[in-house]
Amino acid sequence: MEGERVPVACPACSPDLETVHEVLTTGGGRATVQCSECGHTHKVPIEDERTVEREVVVSQDGESFTASVEVEAEETVRKGDEFILETDEAIMQVRITDLEVGPEERTSFAQAEDVETFWTRAVDNVTVNVTVHPKDGQHDATKSMELQLPGDYEFTIGETEEFDDREFKIEGIHVRQEVVGDYKFQKLGHEGDVVEAKDVKRIYGTDTKKKPWSAW
Ligand SMILES: [Zn+2]
Repeated sequence: MEGERVPVACPACSPDLETVHEVLTTGGGRATVQCSECGHTHKVPIEDERTVEREVVVSQDGESFTASVEVEAEETVRKGDEFILETDEAIMQVRITDLEVGPEERTSFAQAEDVETFWTRAVDNVTVNVTVHPKDGQHDATKSMELQLPGDYEFTIGETEEFDDREFKIEGIHVRQEVVGDYKFQKLGHEGDVVEAKDVKRIYGTDTKKKPWSAW
């Protein structure tokens, strides 16, 4: 970086407008720069290398734990973004579900350094909620189940899924709020629509098992 020319405001001759500066030395996250207009030498933080440590709450299988993450201070972060989180116990892929920027204050996107707590969800492996209606319509009762799946497992509306001794045709899928922007609607019902397991809030299906409904 030494010898590079960078635009920086000069406290001596131009505090409000940037002038061309030459980088003399760097170290400790700061650069010593010299103004090409007046020759004044001063120090500036090296912006693009600045990182901050922030709290992360990870929810996984209905439980949650707290960790910390180092992020680029000026990076823009959004709900739905994913990142790799390294803790003492594991390395995992997590997705931002909420950004806390102050007491009781949450937002959809922010500059990383303004975030106090990243609320996230582990997405390598996820639990998918499924509601299945009986096909004959004679029973009022619907059944619910939870499937443990890799986050990138794909569900397609109109297709039949089989898990253990359960079988159902997918009629509709509700996607999670933090990824609604990636889909056409929050409630998808068109045959052929594909949703990854980690994006699923709930799947609605019809029982397609030949044997009596009471089987499970
Ligand atoms: Zn100057």
